[in-house]
Formats: sequence, structure tokens, C-alpha cells
Amino acid sequence: MSEAYKVECIRCGARFSKEDIVYTCRKCDGLLDIKYDYSEIDVERVVEAKGEGVWKYRVLLPFDENTKPVTINEGNTPLYRCDRLAKSIGITNLWVKHEGLNPSGSFKDRGMTVGVTKAVELGVKGVACASTGNTSASLAIFAAKAGIPCYVILPKGKVALGKVAQAMMHGAKILSLRGNFDDALRIVRVLCEEEKLYLLNSVNPYRLEGQKTIAFEVVEKLEWEVPDRVILPVGNAGNISAIFKGFSELKTLGITDSIPKMTGIQAEGAKPVVNAFKEGKEEIIPEDKPETIASAIRIGNPVNAAKALFAIRDSGGIAESVTDGEITEAQLELARLEGIGVEPASAASIAGLKKLVEIGEIERDEGIVCITTGHLLKDPERVIEICETPKEVDADVDAVRKMMI
Ligand SMILES: *Cc1c(COP(=O)(O)O)cnc(C)c1O
Ligand SMILES: [Zn+2]
Repeated sequence: MSEAYKVECIRCGARFSKEDIVYTCRKCDGLLDIKYDYSEIDVERVVEAKGEGVWKYRVLLPFDENTKPVTINEGNTPLYRCDRLAKSIGITNLWVKHEGLNPSGSFKDRGMTVGVTKAVELGVKGVACASTGNTSASLAIFAAKAGIPCYVILPKGKVALGKVAQAMMHGAKILSLRGNFDDALRIVRVLCEEEKLYLLNSVNPYRLEGQKTIAFEVVEKLEWEVPDRVILPVGNAGNISAIFKGFSELKTLGITDSIPKMTGIQAEGAKPVVNAFKEGKEEIIPEDKPETIASAIRIGNPVNAAKALFAIRDSGGIAESVTDGEITEAQLELARLEGIGVEPASAASIAGLKKLVEIGEIERDEGIVCITTGHLLKDPERVIEICETPKEVDADVDAVRKMMI
């Protein structure tokens, strides 16, 4: 299908062959992007595409017609209209796309179905990643499905319980690193070069190709209308870059005529992208000790920062930070007003929306889509910290009645 793609450096334009296993530019260390010849793409095959989820948009994925995907039905997540939450925030048009309803419970599945399919095509001996949790859970599942070995490095004591449980259950070889996520990524990048394992962190441009389908699904569900703004949490900054790319492709193909204001939210204790954005800088200053209860975005040196800053600026968006308290409040509100259960990082999108409306950066009549990236059950320990514990009662009708009503 889209056999005619190129792997290109976003900084110096250097090109690499499809068989070359390369994650950043060998000339300048810039990030890589997959480029298509859009004039060759049949728009009908995007708009009229049949099927469900990521592979429905196969015409915009870097594989030929015969490739057999490694898939467990990722994508095709619901876009909920959220009127009760909108009312409480004081806005009129809010949707939440709940990526926590992917097979592993996070959007990472969209990237992994593409990344692991590529790994199989390349014939690698194994796949590897550093992870704050969800990347490892998702990679473990797709590696199991493909029947290839999976190696993951997690920052010790910093990964939510549900995520470690998944990586363990699906048979990944897990190392618990005495260091943080940024240390884990630095180390796994060296090992992937030296030991010929295939790196599936979001620095791998193929992963972002899968994740860009979030944009396609949003636009399709809105009957090919583009929302004014998309808000999501930013950690390693791959997803915001990927979604921006998806919207940009639809515009390039003439299917839509605008791109939403890409709005990235980070936690107060880990906000290098927000700092760079506000200071008008091209490059981030890494943070040594990122800290937040939103473990999925506890990242001090986001690898895709250059792509993300471009996405935010080019689309007229904004980057903002929120406190752990604001994240928790938003997590509870989303759960109790809309029945949408998300892990803390995902609630950062709602917390950011509330803050930006309050300070007047977001107009109250904008059409807004928040992306909730991971499921509530990923982080049950946090729930126990913030919710009231169930009260114990004797097995007696009157005793129960007294405590219940
Ligand atoms: C991975 C992840 C993020 C951060 O996404 P990036 O692409 O690293 O910016 C946010 N929320 C959840 C739940 C995640 O798993
Ligand atoms: Zn380069």
C-alpha cells in the first residue's frame, strides 16, 4: 500500500532506507519522520475505509499490501460527549476520547501494533523498551502475540501496579532499574544499538505512525469536522506529535481544512516542554528529578520535545502545567460526572482544560476534545489513596441499614 514512504530526519533532511534499523539521524542526531508521497494516496481509501481501529487506515501506514499485522484490535475507542463535565467547567462543547479502552488499557497499543509489525518484518531477535509502565505493558502483549522476546526496563518503585502486572503476566523479561525513566531510556538505547534488539520507545518513528490514527478517528466520529482544540497529557511527547501529524495529513490530503490547536499538559513537577514553550525556546532544558503522582508523565527529558514544540506552535496551541492536586480533582470529577475512569496522567488533560478556561486562554464556546490516555485500573494504589475506604459492617440487615442510609 504505502510502500513508497521515506524515513527522513526532521532537522537535516537526511534519508534512511526502510531496511536500516535507525532511531535518530546518523548525521545530526535529529528525530526521524516517516514521509509519504501524498499525491499517490487515494483519498477515497481514507474516507471510505472499511474495518475498525488502527489498520483501517492502512493506506496511511508504512507497509505494503501483503503485510500481515500483529494486531489485537487496538484503536476504535469511543469519543464521549461530556455535557455534565462541560457544564461544571463552564464550556459548551466537550468530548473525551477514552484511549484507556484500548486492549492493554492505554493508547500505547496503537503504536505497538505498528512497531511490532515492523519488528517482525525486519526479523529482529527481540524487542525492548524503557517505560513508566504502559509502554512495557503494551509491548509485552504485542511481543507475546508475535512470539518474540521482550525486554523492559522500569524505574524501580515508580511504576503503577496494574502496568507491572501486565508486563509480568505477558512474559516480558523485566528489570527494575535503580534510576528514573530518563536513565532507563538512556541505557536501553545503548543496549538496542549494541545488542541488536529493536527499540520500541516513542523515539521510534514507526510507533508514532500508529498513534496518529487517534486524529483520524476523532475527525471521522465528528463527521469529518475538525475540533477547535485537542488537549492531552505530555510525557515523552510522542503522542502529541503523532496526533498533530494525523491532523496534518488529513489537511494535506484535502479531507479537512484546519488543524486543532494542539494543547499539551504536563505536571508541575515535570514540565520541560511547558518551560521551553513559555520561554519561546526551541530546545528543552532536561529536569533531573521529575516528580508527580501522574507516573506516566514523570519524565524530565522528553525525547520527542522538538516535534511536540513544533506541533504546539504551528497549530496555535499552548503548553500548560497543572499541580498533582488539580490532577486528582479532575480525575475524580471525570469519574463522577461522566463515568470515565482514568489514571492520573490522563486526568491532566481535564485539569489543564479547567485551568486554561479559568485564566481565559480557552474560549468557552470552543469545540474541545480531551484525550484520556490510560485506564483507571492501571493505578489502583492511587485510588486507594484518594478515595474513602469501604466501611466494615456486621452481616446483619439492621446494622447494614444503619450504615448505608
Ligand atoms: C505514555 C503515556 C502518556 C505520555 O505520552 P507521551 O507520548 O510520552 O507524551 C500519557 N498518559 C499515559 C497514560 C501514558 O501511558
Ligand atoms: Zn539529521
